[in-house]
Amino acid sequence: MSIAPTDAEARAGHTVEIRGAVKRYGKARVLAGVDLDIPAGRFLVLLGPSGSGKTTLARCLAGVERLDGGSIRFSGRLVSDGRHHLPPERRNLAMVFQDYALWPHLTALGNVSYALRRRRLASDVARRRAENALEEVGLASLAERYPHELSGGQQQRVALARAVVARPGLLLFDEPLSNLDADLRERLRVQIATIARDSEATVVYITHDQAEAFALADDIAVLDKGELVQIGPPEQIYRQPATLFVARFTGSAGELPGRVLGLEGGYAVIDVAGHPLRVRYAGSVVVGTRVRVLVRPAATRVLLEGEISGAALPGTVIDVAYRGRGYEHVLACAGGTLAAVFDSTRWPRGSELSVGLDPEGCAAYPEILDTEMAPITTPNGAAPTRAKAAVPA
Ligand code: ADP
Ligand code: MG
Repeated sequence: MSIAPTDAEARAGHTVEIRGAVKRYGKARVLAGVDLDIPAGRFLVLLGPSGSGKTTLARCLAGVERLDGGSIRFSGRLVSDGRHHLPPERRNLAMVFQDYALWPHLTALGNVSYALRRRRLASDVARRRAENALEEVGLASLAERYPHELSGGQQQRVALARAVVARPGLLLFDEPLSNLDADLRERLRVQIATIARDSEATVVYITHDQAEAFALADDIAVLDKGELVQIGPPEQIYRQPATLFVARFTGSAGELPGRVLGLEGGYAVIDVAGHPLRVRYAGSVVVGTRVRVLVRPAATRVLLEGEISGAALPGTVIDVAYRGRGYEHVLACAGGTLAAVFDSTRWPRGSELSVGLDPEGCAAYPEILDTEMAPITTPNGAAPTRAKAAVPA
C-alpha cells in the first residue's frame, strides 16, 4: 500500500545523510563508499566527469537502485541500507531528467496534476495548483498541449513544474540542461535556481559542467571515480581545490611543471623554467621536489610594459579569440602553455607578452605519475609526440 505523505507533511526539505554508500555493477565499484550530509533546504551540486557515478548516486537517493553497502537517511529516517529499501514513491522526492521523461499521452496540465493525485487533494484544488505551477514556469497558455507539441525547453519547464508542484522534500536534477541550446540553457538555469529555492526543498543537482555548478550551488560536491573528493561552497572549491583532479575539473588555464624552492606563510615559491612563482599549495608539497602548478584563468593578466608584478612569465601569443568583452589569448610561456589569458586589447599571434600570475589563483601539487600524465603508448609501442604549441615563425 502506498502511504504518500499528506500535503501538510510535505513541506520542509529533507536533511540527507549518506553513509559509506557502495554500489557495484558486477565487479565494478561505481560508488566506493560515499559520505555526504546535506542540510534541509540546501542546493547541492554534484559535479563530476562522465562515468564518475553521479547518476548512480541520484538513483540510489531516488530509490530506483538499491545500495550494496552503507545507508541513506532522509530527515533521520532510514530509507536505504543493505536490508531496508523504501520504494521511490514513499520517499517524497521528485526527479527531473536530461530527456524530460514526460508522459506522452497526457497534456502539460495532465502531466503536472498527475503528480498531485496521490496527495488526495480535491480535484479542483489539484487543478488550480497545477495551473499555478505551469504559470510559474511561463507555460499557462500551453497547458492543453501534449509533449510532442512542445519544444525541448518547454517540455523541460513542464517537467520542472511537475517536480515542484507536489512540494517534495528532495528535488533531484540529473543534467536537466544538457539537451538544450546555450541561450535557453542559461534562462532555464535561472528559472530552476529560483523555483527550486522558492520550493524550500533540498536540492541535489547533477552536472559535468563546472560553470553550471558554480552558478547554481550553495555547495559543490566533486565526484571522481565513485569517490567524493571534495565538498564545499563554490568559492572554497575554486580557491582551495583539494586535489589536482578537482583543480583541473573546475577551471584551468594550464599547468606548469616546476621545482619547490621554499615554503613560507601558506605559499610555496616554485621555480618554473627559471622564474620564481609564488603560489598556493595543497597536500604534501616538499622543498626540492618536482610539482605541477595549476593556473586558474582568472589568475592570469597581461602586464603592460614596465608594469611590476610579484610573479610573471614571458610568453608568445599563439592564438587569440574574440569573446565579446575582450579577447582570450593562448600563450606559449616559459614552462608551458597558458590558455584563456584575457585582455581588452587584441594581441596578435606572435606578440611577446609578460603574463602576471596572481598567487591566489595558482596552486602547486606534487608531481605524481598518474595514468593521465603517464606517457601514452600507441599500439605499436611508440610514444606519440604530445601536441605542441606551435610558435609562430
Ligand atoms: P555519470 O552519471 O557520472 O556519468 P553513472 O552513474 O551513469 O555516471 O555511471 C557510473 C559507472 O557505472 C559507469 O562506468 C557506467 O558505465 C556504470 N553503470 C551505470 N549504470 C550501470 C548498469 N545499470 N549496469 C552496469 N554498469 C552501469
Ligand atoms: Mg549521468
